[in-house]
Amino acid sequence: MSFLSDAEKVIFSLNEYYEDSKNARKPVIFQKPIAELKYHFDLDSYAKNGGMSEKGLMSFLDKYLNSTTRMHHPGYFAHQVAPVHYSGVLGTLIDSFINNVTSIYEMGSGATCVEYFIINWLLKKVGWQPAPWEVDNAAEGLDFAGGILTHGGSLANLTGLIAARKKLVPDVWKKGNPNDLALLASSDCHYSIERAAGILGIGKNSIYHLDVDKRGAIIPEQLSSAHGRLLQDGKRPVALVANACSTAVGIYDPLEEIGDYCNEKGIWLHIDGTHGASALLSQKHKTLLRGIEKANSITWDAHKLMQTPALCAALLVRDHRTIDNAFEQEASYIFHEKEQPGFDFIHRTVECTKPGLGLKLFLVLALYGENRLSAYIDRQFALTLQAYEYIEERDDFDCPVKPQSNVLCFRIKGSDRLQLTLRDKVNKNGNFYLSTTLFKNVRYLRIVVMSSNTQMTHIKRLVKELRKQSAILTD
Ligand SMILES: *Cc1c(COP(=O)(O)O)cnc(C)c1O
Repeated sequence: MSFLSDAEKVIFSLNEYYEDSKNARKPVIFQKPIAELKYHFDLDSYAKNGGMSEKGLMSFLDKYLNSTTRMHHPGYFAHQVAPVHYSGVLGTLIDSFINNVTSIYEMGSGATCVEYFIINWLLKKVGWQPAPWEVDNAAEGLDFAGGILTHGGSLANLTGLIAARKKLVPDVWKKGNPNDLALLASSDCHYSIERAAGILGIGKNSIYHLDVDKRGAIIPEQLSSAHGRLLQDGKRPVALVANACSTAVGIYDPLEEIGDYCNEKGIWLHIDGTHGASALLSQKHKTLLRGIEKANSITWDAHKLMQTPALCAALLVRDHRTIDNAFEQEASYIFHEKEQPGFDFIHRTVECTKPGLGLKLFLVLALYGENRLSAYIDRQFALTLQAYEYIEERDDFDCPVKPQSNVLCFRIKGSDRLQLTLRDKVNKNGNFYLSTTLFKNVRYLRIVVMSSNTQMTHIKRLVKELRKQSAILTD
């Protein structure tokens, strides 16, 4: 056994896995009872005795790869996770091997440099001032933006709200929360916002929901209504959270108008662009994000629409000081004054041992290219619109909203229960994997067109399969 020969075989298997997935030669989703899988993998024996030979490794890998959800499969429609480009995978491999940490520069100068670069690259896409490369104490007083890569959008959302709370309540780390903190958020916000409210001790009950239209987008003219209720209750808003785009139906909030309102009222605007901020890469679709630069903080995942392996998320702030001061703490062995040729990210993050997350995205940009990423986004959005037009034309199908991104919801005539049963049936067959969502209290089937191998023929086949299953079920 050696790294070279084992790795070569693993990579060969992964390549075959990719070809099988792309060409739909294996089911898109595979689910065995968990206890059966454990037995099948021989986990107990290997963990206790070790001794996995090269042959054993390959046999284990074969079983493991066949117990997966295949993101490159053309019938993969379920969740907003990237079908990765191999270049990002090389980034993961490299960084796992060197195992460097980006929290402090001396633990990984190369990884930190790449993260710093990636943050600046994202900041420029937003239209904010990137951070200077000559980092010294004088930079403290300058105006520029900042950010941090985190393990996922949920953590980035939490980090953004931590920065917002610190801005509103400067002594919060010493004294804890005052009891008048609240949040303004779209009723269609991602559940991680509710969780963040819980973690921050603001509480779910102190989220004031903004009025939304029938597409679930915030109505800017009615912002003052939820805000007014909040003030009437004697509360202060830590932030207003807007979607770009929403998780359930993929609709963008009108950021420009919301930004104007927030800036006028002095409310911290956090834009949850976890999925949809990547549209900034597209000449065609970046107008969906018009006004994004008016935000105070933005969450943006690379592991959703940028073909980058999970996890690689960014929390970006318009003013770097708000994130530099967000976590007030003392850890003298790390925070002592020292000669510093680089930058310590540790002041900006919940995490301590945080690996280099930037390399994955950097290699996607370097090997695959920004232009192809942009073309990928255009293609997926266009195909989703085409799927919408096709489905909307069928009398027995109904879509709640016209899509703006690569998320599409629809239902076949029948009850909410029928949609759920249909999803289970279709997923079990292994040709398609789709999710469902509640939107305005109605159950919809939901597809996210993530795979670049998906074509219109697959959408048509999905419709056919849904009809067939529905006919059997309602017979
Ligand atoms: C996916 C998503 C999240 C959560 O991000 P993770 O990276 O999965 O933690 C938050 N908000 C929105 C709008 C999302 O689409």
